Amino acid sequence: MSLFQPHIEAMQGYSPGEQPTNPRLIKLNTNENPYPPSPVVLDAIRSVAPEQLRRYPDPMGNLFRQTAASIFGVEPQMVLCGNGMDDLLNLTVRAFSGPVAKLVFPTPTYTLYAVLAEIQASMVQEVPFGPDFTLPANDLLAAGGRVTYLANPNSPSGTLVEAEVVSDLASRLTGVLVVDEAYVDFADADCMSLVHRHDNVLVLRSLSKGYSLAGLRFGFAVGPKRLIDGLIKVKDSYNVDAIAIQAAAAAISDQRHARQCWERVRTERTRLADAMTKLDLPSLPSQANFLLTTVPAKPGAAAVYEELKTRGILVRYFKLPGLDDKLRITVGTPEQNDALLKAIEEIVNTSV
Ligand SMILES: *Cc1c(COP(=O)(O)O)cnc(C)c1O
Repeated sequence: MSLFQPHIEAMQGYSPGEQPTNPRLIKLNTNENPYPPSPVVLDAIRSVAPEQLRRYPDPMGNLFRQTAASIFGVEPQMVLCGNGMDDLLNLTVRAFSGPVAKLVFPTPTYTLYAVLAEIQASMVQEVPFGPDFTLPANDLLAAGGRVTYLANPNSPSGTLVEAEVVSDLASRLTGVLVVDEAYVDFADADCMSLVHRHDNVLVLRSLSKGYSLAGLRFGFAVGPKRLIDGLIKVKDSYNVDAIAIQAAAAAISDQRHARQCWERVRTERTRLADAMTKLDLPSLPSQANFLLTTVPAKPGAAAVYEELKTRGILVRYFKLPGLDDKLRITVGTPEQNDALLKAIEEIVNTSV
């Protein structure tokens, strides 16, 4: 007999993208930012005093809260720090869903939502996205979730739902709407203002992609004080460490550095998408730092994934219905993207 609860025994667990150690690999599989974080982040980490490590950190990360509040135009009490956005997603799943409180999200999307729900033995309903990843608003409403998740821009599609459409959904939902904005820094628009207009909206942000800090683990939630206060009851007492609080506050304070990186990624995104289209590999219009590219049946997405891997280029292949003819490719530096394009051109040409 298993020592685990049946629902834990039965589950698969989340499978993250590969993190190989070979530094020469061109790693375009987990949507990391290709540029380094701002130098002020490294300065902040170097300036950590021994006393800050001897003592427990500020349980609320107020340095970060205050910095974020002034940058994003909200009250500090509307901000909650997390050990990566994944920590905050987990908090919301635990706070709002359960065996009789349904968790709803449109698919395909970030596969962690389903995994977190499984751990809580939460009731789940997946709702397919509409054509071209339009928001299936009526089906989401009909599902009647206590909590509904929307990755916006979505992964793996890269597509963005307009803020007004999200706002309309929020106003018609009876439960909480969690807008996962992990990729919003690369997009033309965001849903941050919705936290002022709706009492049921939480906007989640991550420093992993936009601020080149996936290794640091820092994310934050913004929402009405009532929702943030409830989540505080659920979080670990010290869910963000002293170094991370200081580094994350420095990172968001250097908006100039971050914006320059976002602009470079956006420029390369357009160039990469256009070049891929010319190779007969079209992508969905992306508002994120990656492309979801359809590969022709010959050579096929799985074969291109394997061929790229043997050439030292790692992209993401999802062996799932509706995605198994596609590759999700992170936008890299111009040099990385050139190497990718050259490799793809060779693979496509030798397969015909
Ligand atoms: C990367 C990602 C996250 C998690 O970000 P972390 O802050 O690194 O935990 C959340 N949602 C989506 C859609 C992501 O792609």
